[in-house]
Amino acid sequence: MMMKRLFFLAILVLFMLNFINAQELYMPRNIKKAYTKGTRSLTGAPGPNYWQNEGVYHIDETVHTGTKSISGKESILYSNNSPDTLRIIAIRFVNNIHKPQAPRSGYVGEDFLDAGVHISSFKINNVAYNINSDDWSTVNAVRLKSLILPHTSVTLNIEWSYPLSKQSGREGQIDSATFYCAYSYPRVSVYDDYYGWDMIPHTDHAEFYNDFNDYTLSVTAPKNFVVWATGDFLNPDEVLKPAAAERLKASYSSDSVIHIATLRDMQQGNITQQNEWNTWKFTANHITDVCYAVSNHYVWDGASAVVDAHTGRRASMQAAYNDDADDFHHSVEYGLHAFKFLSTQYPGIPYPYSKMTAFRGFADMEYPMMVNDSHTENLSDAQMTQDHEMAHTYFPFYMGINETRYAYMDEGWATTFEYLASVDEMGKEKADKMFENFRIRRYINDPSGEEDQPIITMSTQVSGAGYGNNSYGKASLSYLALKDLLGDDLFKKALHHYMDNWHGKHPIPWDYFYSINAGAGQNLNWFWNNWFFSNNYIDLKIKSASSKNNTTTVTIENIGGFAIPFDVVMLSKDGKEKRKHFTPEVWHKNKKIITVTLNNTSTPETIKIGGSVFMDATPADNSIKL
Ligand SMILES: [Zn+2]
Repeated sequence: MMMKRLFFLAILVLFMLNFINAQELYMPRNIKKAYTKGTRSLTGAPGPNYWQNEGVYHIDETVHTGTKSISGKESILYSNNSPDTLRIIAIRFVNNIHKPQAPRSGYVGEDFLDAGVHISSFKINNVAYNINSDDWSTVNAVRLKSLILPHTSVTLNIEWSYPLSKQSGREGQIDSATFYCAYSYPRVSVYDDYYGWDMIPHTDHAEFYNDFNDYTLSVTAPKNFVVWATGDFLNPDEVLKPAAAERLKASYSSDSVIHIATLRDMQQGNITQQNEWNTWKFTANHITDVCYAVSNHYVWDGASAVVDAHTGRRASMQAAYNDDADDFHHSVEYGLHAFKFLSTQYPGIPYPYSKMTAFRGFADMEYPMMVNDSHTENLSDAQMTQDHEMAHTYFPFYMGINETRYAYMDEGWATTFEYLASVDEMGKEKADKMFENFRIRRYINDPSGEEDQPIITMSTQVSGAGYGNNSYGKASLSYLALKDLLGDDLFKKALHHYMDNWHGKHPIPWDYFYSINAGAGQNLNWFWNNWFFSNNYIDLKIKSASSKNNTTTVTIENIGGFAIPFDVVMLSKDGKEKRKHFTPEVWHKNKKIITVTLNNTSTPETIKIGGSVFMDATPADNSIKL
């Protein structure tokens, strides 16, 4: 009995200590409340009272290739799993970003503008609502005629139509007979445990935040138009000619690329069934979105790879593109490599879906099981971009990230995996150069205050360079610094702990911090404070250096403040180089100035410090002559 009481006391003390430590991180008041209510937990795992809402969507859309518009109807079985009574329901239609009166983050051309969605019918539990969609923005509160009680469901039935904008952004017309149809249906916005309804309008700047839903999607398109979509393709034999259906099915077990549709096939009407209209059916469960693309002249490649060695499960890699986009002829081959890298290296979790389609558009944008990438002459850039968009499979989709508020929780990881994949594909030297030039150089060479906003700042509250660097480069460097701090094995263990805790759910930054603390078995709050809650940047300086009796002593100031890893390099007169690596741990106790010692056999002439992709704001003070 006594032992037991002592044990409980010890647990209590540990918990209190953990709480005190955890409290070292700034937490907004609404987030604190989520921890008090037990929907989140200081262990990093979802709290005992965690909940999230969900929907079952049945969507039927028709693509009108003449008027270049979409019409659709859907039923949504929406479940309120929260303990709250809902008085409104928030409906999101992102493509209202095209309405002239929509708030937008930047200038757009005439061709981007259109009339937005027209809702012709809106019912909840068969009760009709009088919706004037002329007044709708990208997110709209509908006052409920009957409240939605906790732990109950309602059925929404909506009919709508909208034009495909001539100038495409993340969606719209790619050419006169190729359309990328994303965000094409009205959806229930997220209702969560820390903000309630997500009412942030989409401005074409910060990205998305969606519930995990089950979908069946039917797309009706004229003959000779192929439909590529998120989800398992249910009826190839109904809509494809037998030979084309056979080639598609063969690609599901083929390691090498099969040309499912060549340009000649498309021009000769050899691919789709010759009904006036074909209805293409897809399904995907527990996923944050579905989208599709159609074309009557894009070519179509496919192959597949084992993505889970334990079960032997394969995933299909497909590409759809205009035949003269040379880079896309490599898309499937690049995709197979990305499958392998992502599944076995970083993040090292089997690719979670049945397929991926790389589609040639203009967006360089990710969607579940689809990417819409622009054409480039440079094959390394093409592969890097496709790797990046495919890496988004894990963040934000597998992990249910709130990209609107916390873009660094997905862009930072996609950028990190893109870099690590590039190292694997092209070697470290080339990958470092690409990463530095594309992700870091502009940031570190611009001394303006916009660059140094704390990463934790909500993505809706930063713009321009502040948004870009916080979401991509700086966040990615924090993940790479963490990898260096923990070493590859512990880093992966901690990352997997976080991903196991939260996949299929909605983590927020504190869930990440506490999950990694738990997964690594270390209180890393000093590191989170340093990287996420500060105005730090990267700038080391050698204050002094001396060498005596085969020992070299270097005193280094951390002017910029970020806890970065770095090497100290000793160059001797005879051209010999000796290098020692220091992890970010050296900044744990003293964040401003440290002294390190190195053994040497010949007296060094020059001492240099540097941190690979951790580019320094003032490189001139990173070397010293003895
Ligand atoms: Zn991205």
